[in-house]
Amino acid sequence: MNSNSNDGEKAEIDDRDPWYAKGLSFECTQCGNCCSGPGTGFVWVSEAEISAIAARIGMDDDIDGFERKFTRRIGARVSLVEYSDGDCIFLDPKSRNCSVYEARPVQCRTWPFWDSNVVTPKAWGAAAKSCPGCNHGKLYSLVEIQKTLRTDKLGAENSN
Ligand code: SF4
Ligand code: SF4
Repeated sequence: MNSNSNDGEKAEIDDRDPWYAKGLSFECTQCGNCCSGPGTGFVWVSEAEISAIAARIGMDDDIDGFERKFTRRIGARVSLVEYSDGDCIFLDPKSRNCSVYEARPVQCRTWPFWDSNVVTPKAWGAAAKSCPGCNHGKLYSLVEIQKTLRTDKLGAENSN
């Protein structure tokens, strides 16, 4: 049985809670792994996110040009393009930091709290293998994780 504390967080855990009910730790080390190859990946972007990134790099008056240069259509969705080595086009090759960090898409903001990563402890373990920030640093509560999962889901819907 759950009971709610004054701050709205669950004070107890019941059988229906996910395996990460006690929270998960995460703190980005800025290693750049999640933005890089060698494999191909997709960084889905909505129209609003395209506009925000374009504005960040001073191309807000040429959205068509931005889309031609930095995005690709995959079916009904749009992804950022990559360098030939699989690195995101906005990953600075030298610093390994995101060059549009303040305007990065929801998909990037919500990592590693994606449904696919938290579905099982095994999936979380697999994410942690590529992301050294998982299981370290700040402990995110169940409520915080669920909020991020909802944000990610909404971001995915908006990029459809
Ligand atoms: S892989 Fe993890 S630790 Fe590395 S940059 Fe991405 S989020 Fe940060
Ligand atoms: S937009 Fe930035 S944070 Fe997102 S994958 Fe590209 S480099 Fe990484």
